[in-house]
Amino acid sequence: MSGPATAPRAGYRGRFAPSPTGPLHFGSLLAAVASYADARAQAGAWLVRLEDLDRPREVPGAADDILRTLQAFGFVWDEPVLFQRDRSDAYQTALDRLAARGLTYPCGCSRAEIARLGLPGREGPIYPGTCRAGLPPGHRPRTVRLRVPAQPIAFVDRIQGAQAQSIATAVGDFVLQRADGIHAYQLAVVVDDAWQGITQAVRGADLLLSTPRQILLQQSLGLSQPDYAHVPLAVDDGGRKLSKSLAAAPVDPSDPLPALRRAWELLGQETLPLGRAIHGCPIARFWSQASVRWRIERVPARPTIRIGSH
Ligand code: GLU
Repeated sequence: MSGPATAPRAGYRGRFAPSPTGPLHFGSLLAAVASYADARAQAGAWLVRLEDLDRPREVPGAADDILRTLQAFGFVWDEPVLFQRDRSDAYQTALDRLAARGLTYPCGCSRAEIARLGLPGREGPIYPGTCRAGLPPGHRPRTVRLRVPAQPIAFVDRIQGAQAQSIATAVGDFVLQRADGIHAYQLAVVVDDAWQGITQAVRGADLLLSTPRQILLQQSLGLSQPDYAHVPLAVDDGGRKLSKSLAAAPVDPSDPLPALRRAWELLGQETLPLGRAIHGCPIARFWSQASVRWRIERVPARPTIRIGSH
């Protein structure tokens, strides 16, 4: 990892894309603050997309809860919220285009078979390519996978610097449509980022390893590539991802300022001056100062930051 941050492009369009699997927690707030401040600092548009594509994992009421919390924290989105549950036709069209180019194949492997045959990877077993040359006898199609080329994918992250990954050796041919028919996150995010004209994806560093897959899909579908900036992931004292630990308390929408200030500080930013609130609104004052003072180059170029327990 190295290298300077790249300069953002003109016509900035950023987004925050939470999955409605629970209330907004501090780790997600960190990514939202970075994404919003970066967009506003460049007079860019900022959108919200609810990634509710994985219906079985959705927690009822979580989407509304997240939107209400974002509002309470002073986030203002510039276009109607996009819901992935409305977008499956667009994902299928993209999948059909990849299939028409011969870039996909049906896979009949079960999880247990892949776990038995695949080498261990950072995100689980690496797909060993069992069905690449055709379904083995006795196997029915379950998922659809992308044929991944051998060449590595490289990009420069605005926070984390130069990155490169051989998807073939790190992940293998990856799933685009799951056995339950749901399109994979990697495909949906690429289709939606393009459709929404996103030029800057500022998000949590847990997605750094997914980015090469998304860039490969953009290249395969002839879509333009946004710039990426991966914000360190908040972990607790034990190094556990915040969303998976006891410290994953939801942020408190009735008292947003302390959490905003904490996020700002953890993002390596200079303390904002205290002062009179705009029309009695300290949140509006926070954001007006934040959009002037945001410096992405101050964000720690690390995959994680420890924040301790609350
Ligand atoms: N929905 C993803 C998440 O909540 C984020 C996707 C993205 O920002 O690209 O982790």
